Amino acid sequence: MTDGVNNPEFQVPPELQGQVNVTSIDRIYNWGRRNSIWPMMFGLACCAIEMICVAASRYDFSRFGMEVMRPSPRQSDLMIVSGTVTKKMIPQIVRLYNQMPEPKYVLAMGACASGGGPFKEGYSVVSGVDKFVPVDVYVPGCPPTPQALLNGLITLQKKIDQQSIGTVRWYRDEVSEPIPIPVLGPDLLDPRDFPNFNELKAAVRTASSESPEAEAAS
Ligand code: SF4
Repeated sequence: MTDGVNNPEFQVPPELQGQVNVTSIDRIYNWGRRNSIWPMMFGLACCAIEMICVAASRYDFSRFGMEVMRPSPRQSDLMIVSGTVTKKMIPQIVRLYNQMPEPKYVLAMGACASGGGPFKEGYSVVSGVDKFVPVDVYVPGCPPTPQALLNGLITLQKKIDQQSIGTVRWYRDEVSEPIPIPVLGPDLLDPRDFPNFNELKAAVRTASSESPEAEAAS
């Protein structure tokens, strides 16, 4: 590391060698974060059963400091998307992701979450959760074995090791914008595909409030 936060050039004086260790702020900071990742407690389909196995005694991801699966996005660092992402579910997934505080990570577990899997051509399935939220680690398989998920979690730890407190996005001045929540109508709409989405939404609301059915109901 050669930035202003870390100083690898520092030499320990001879009289202190063997008594002090010199390391970098990044290493301490990442050591704390990589060993206390709290995953969000939710599952979407069959892959979730394998995820539950990883939390149980045989594979036991508490060895990585991850045993505190949180039922609230506001206390979670990691979203494990374990299962098929349907068009009906993706608005809720994006909303949960937006509610997680930084630093936050996403792991796509299995073929479905990574790319749609065996249901890729299905009318109701999103072909990969990365169409909507940024994914840090992909774990292949249908379903991935518990060992594969453990490998994915270790890969995430290695990714965290590479981050620097001087450049991570959550300490920058600019505020990160939430991801627009997709809208499920006759089909899934991604607001990012429509620059004038809010005007469109207002027009649809007005049109539906002026429809004969709405007038009859009022
Ligand atoms: S990848 Fe396979 S095991 Fe996992 S949710 Fe999809 S169909 Fe189920």
